[in-house]
Amino acid sequence: EELIKRLEATIENIPDFPIPGIQFKDISPIFLDPKLYEDVIGDLVKFSRGKVDAVCGIESRGYLFGIAVAVALDVPFILIRKKGKLPPPVISEKYDLEYGSAEIETREGQIKKGQKILIHDDLLATGGTTEAAAKLVQKQGADVVQFSFLIGLKDLNGEEKLRKFGADIYSILQY
Ligand code: IMP
Repeated sequence: EELIKRLEATIENIPDFPIPGIQFKDISPIFLDPKLYEDVIGDLVKFSRGKVDAVCGIESRGYLFGIAVAVALDVPFILIRKKGKLPPPVISEKYDLEYGSAEIETREGQIKKGQKILIHDDLLATGGTTEAAAKLVQKQGADVVQFSFLIGLKDLNGEEKLRKFGADIYSILQY
């Protein structure tokens, strides 16, 4: 599709960043092209229109698109942040990283029981971050019904990890 071609031509692949062996996808050039940004939002909105009551975005690049999607859908946007950034009271979820562990949080009360939730991030790699976000949402009595990403890295099998939530998964681009 045309949007996919324009995105592929815009996203930069940086070898060996932040560590040797990793091919980093830099999405920042998208913001130099307002029309492309608008079309990305339009595509994500098309996927979620009429399906969700709220959008949860994952810090920090999940905010760059997630807020615009929520505004276009006319639904609330909830920030999922790294531990220690949000004032209390918060709800937290711990998860394992390759080395050590991390924790994400939302403000208590912002996600409502029974809400249908879209979880959005810029990129799906191993799925560890998104899986933790989905658990955090479920802990608050809401339903994760959709995941959306700009980019899905197929080889890392992130979608497998998310399958158990029974939600629709959409990545504009697959690598
Ligand atoms: P995961 O938890 O392994 O799925 O990693 C996903 C998280 O890492 C997302 O929040 C991404 O923003 C970030 N991430 C991982 N690799 C890249 C990359 O190549 N470019 C941009 N962000 C990345």
